Amino acid sequence: MAKYDVTHRCGHTGEIDLWGKGKDREWKLKNAEGNLCKECWIEQQKAKPENKELYIHIEPHFLEKENGEKLVYLYFSGATYENKEAIKELGFVWGEEEMPTTPPAKKVWKKVITQKEVKEITVKIKALGAILKR
Ligand SMILES: [Zn+2]
Repeated sequence: MAKYDVTHRCGHTGEIDLWGKGKDREWKLKNAEGNLCKECWIEQQKAKPENKELYIHIEPHFLEKENGEKLVYLYFSGATYENKEAIKELGFVWGEEEMPTTPPAKKVWKKVITQKEVKEITVKIKALGAILKR
């Protein structure tokens, strides 16, 4: 493994780790040159219309608790980056979708709670300005 300096498409420079065969390394380097740097990529994501607002998805989970209590699955989409700290404070964790609509599962900020807890957390989520999606 070796570190290489790379100039990204946006003109910013960075460092990437390269390993593997010469061909693979060349491909990875080319790829990195064709991509934006991390900061520019984040800015680009933020600028997308679908990422301007924060959305909360509330769905019944396919699982239920052993006592038969219904579980509810919540996850955020859209402007999660700007709201990361607040989302974390609500006890959401970053991980693979529980119920991906199209595989492979994407990573989302998610939380599984009981039906009883929905009301309380919904108030907090609305305070973040999140838009409800069902
Ligand atoms: Zn850049």
